[in-house]
Amino acid sequence: MFAYHGETMGTTWSVRIAAPSGGISQPIGAGIQSALDRVVTQMSHWDQASDLCRFNRVRSDAWQSLPIEFFTVLEAALAVAHESEGAFDPALGALVDLWGFGPAGTRAAPPAPDAIAQARDGLGWRAIAIDRRGLRARHDGSATLDFSGIAKGFGVDQVADYLIGQGILHFLVEVGGELRGCGLKPDGQPWWVDLEAPPGITLPVNRVALHQLSVATSGDYRRHFEHEGARYAHSIDPRTGWPVNAGMASVTVLHPSCMMADAYATALTVLGLDQGCALAERLDIAAILVARGDKGAREWLSPAAMRMLD
Ligand code: ADP
Ligand code: MG
Repeated sequence: MFAYHGETMGTTWSVRIAAPSGGISQPIGAGIQSALDRVVTQMSHWDQASDLCRFNRVRSDAWQSLPIEFFTVLEAALAVAHESEGAFDPALGALVDLWGFGPAGTRAAPPAPDAIAQARDGLGWRAIAIDRRGLRARHDGSATLDFSGIAKGFGVDQVADYLIGQGILHFLVEVGGELRGCGLKPDGQPWWVDLEAPPGITLPVNRVALHQLSVATSGDYRRHFEHEGARYAHSIDPRTGWPVNAGMASVTVLHPSCMMADAYATALTVLGLDQGCALAERLDIAAILVARGDKGAREWLSPAAMRMLD
């Protein structure tokens, strides 16, 4: 077994490879890092030199050429926005910044209502148009893309693609807690992972075999601030302009693509238990939703998740 690790997207990454007995000759660690660096260079909301920040800065509706990876993520993000009726919205960068979860810096109390209204103005994925044949996109001059809810998962997929391109077929990739497993461990077992309940919640542990499968988790315990007893987490409901308050402790999604798992996890978090379950059923998404309630935590497995955990 070979292990590699490093840092990316404000978090850490790790990769485990079940290598053939001859070992690995290529400088795999550097290759993984550069696959992730390419995602950051294109899609970071935090790096003013990124293609994404450059796209956001254009204050006109001119078509802009995009690198293929950026285009791929944008197209997927818009598809999830469409499917979730805007609960997932890759164009709410202004709100994310306003609430202190972006590069503009953190905050200790909620912003003023008129500032929220202003940030919601000109907001939204519907202002983005894409042209797949030309690998171009445009916005109406006011949108602010933020891929933080999908880019980590895409980074995992990019690392997996890189490894497969190197002829490496048995591995487990992790970026900031999002995982993708491929092939088998050295002992011939698939990459089993325990899906742990959020801190403070006791539920039976779900074990899943990541066999050509990814898993992403959104949780309100990850990044948040507290003010006068209320908790403001970093998933924002584009319908209200406020951090999500639907009582979801965590949402875990299993999907072949880690990018899709990541985006769906955020979408279901925003939708909350009732609407989230309905969407997971309708789209046949394998999801595990854990909601906080007066009588303790409740866990719901979608039909697709139940088939997978059997
Ligand atoms: P989690 O692990 O909790 O899903 P992520 O890092 O995947 O967290 O996504 C959270 C980030 O996504 C936020 O910091 C913000 O930049 C962005 N975001 C917040 N709300 C939404 C939303 N409704 N749709 C898309 N992206 C969002
Ligand atoms: Mg996410």
